[in-house]
Amino acid sequence: MLSVLTRFFVIICVAFVLAFTTLSLWGGQWAIAVGISVISIPLVYAYINLARLRKYILADSVESMPLPSGFWEEVFFRLQRLVRNLKQHIRSIEQQHEHFIEAFQASPNGIVMLDESDQIEWCNSIAERFFGLIFKRDVMQRINFLIRRPEFIQYLNKRNFDEPLLMERMGRDGSLSLMLQAFPFGQKRHLLLVQDVTDLQKADAMRRDFVANVSHEMRTPITVLMGFLETVQSLELKKDQQDQYFAMMMSQAQRMKSLVEDLLTLANLESNALPATNTVVKVETLMALLKNDAEALSQGKHAFTFDLNSKCNLLGDEREILSAFSNLVSNAIRYTPDIGSIRVEWSVNEQGQGEFSVADTGPGIASEHLSRLTERFYRVDRSRSRDTGGTGLGLAIVKHIANRHQAQLVIESTPGRGSKFMLRFPKDRVTS
Ligand code: ADP
Repeated sequence: MLSVLTRFFVIICVAFVLAFTTLSLWGGQWAIAVGISVISIPLVYAYINLARLRKYILADSVESMPLPSGFWEEVFFRLQRLVRNLKQHIRSIEQQHEHFIEAFQASPNGIVMLDESDQIEWCNSIAERFFGLIFKRDVMQRINFLIRRPEFIQYLNKRNFDEPLLMERMGRDGSLSLMLQAFPFGQKRHLLLVQDVTDLQKADAMRRDFVANVSHEMRTPITVLMGFLETVQSLELKKDQQDQYFAMMMSQAQRMKSLVEDLLTLANLESNALPATNTVVKVETLMALLKNDAEALSQGKHAFTFDLNSKCNLLGDEREILSAFSNLVSNAIRYTPDIGSIRVEWSVNEQGQGEFSVADTGPGIASEHLSRLTERFYRVDRSRSRDTGGTGLGLAIVKHIANRHQAQLVIESTPGRGSKFMLRFPKDRVTS
């Protein structure tokens, strides 16, 4: 292909030759006319091609533009390649941008990007939910106009983002606790990261309550025990008085022992592996053990019925199942007044579920307490529970064991008439 200068030189030469020939044949004016005409031909061609180029550029279809021949072919071809490369580059940048957005959207945390004036440049859908924002509506709005909580505005104004900020009662229904921290990036911009810490906060509160409860439960018998010890030490007591004091001290020590045992049982239940699904637990054997223990605990004060209505057995952990069953039986004995009756039953229902139930004719429980009975240290009547040697952890243990066996704890009770506690095991846990 000829270079531009060569082409230009050829055209000038042709114009000269033709003008010179015309000059010798027809005179000066004709020679100028012919020379200009020859030089104008490439200019007209260039104009036509520039007009075409303009048309394709305006229609954004440079890539599909048909190539002219000659010098302009190279110009068009290079332009097309340039546009194609540029578009490809833009597309890959857009794809990268989309990937970043998708990654930020997939984050379980709220993310808000703020510019140097704290205007929202971008936020993900979690942040929209946390703060009630709508990105399309709130983009480029100052965030302190949208989140009006004083502690947040103070945090932003202070410009010291070393520590996170805890915001409670957030979300549409005020049930969320959010931990938020701003991180500087780029040119005085900030990335706001927001984490939902509602469950962590709840777990922390539960842990604090639990420690306070355990301390309280332990302090009472220890104080009583120390009081007795001081009395025994400082007073001259007769043998029968001493025996009386020792018996009372023993009962306080027993109370502490039961509490520690129940706490250990709960801790073990929380840390142990889930019970096996293939170990057979013979319900008939459990019922015999329960009957012996119940009669010993009741000392003939209650009338018992033990009904083994099914020969089916359970699959699970024998120690755990026995612990759950005996907790229910001992509760029935402890809360049912003397001469009351207690019925312990094992059966398999029409759906194939195993049902272990303990029904008593005790005082019953008012309906407002039923949903809270399995909470640790929850008692309907504090003094009655203590009098009967209760730790307030029995039903929490039962519920835990039930969950570990995918069983359901069903409680029915009528104040003044009695209660029925039932453990319903799924069909998969029942075996022949
Ligand atoms: P506790 O060691 O105090 O018995 P539990 O967790 O076993 O603790 O029971 C929680 C509360 O449920 C008891 O304090 C008692 O008020 C009530 N409760 C449990 N079983 C019975 C029952 N059979 N009859 C009446 N109340 C009961």
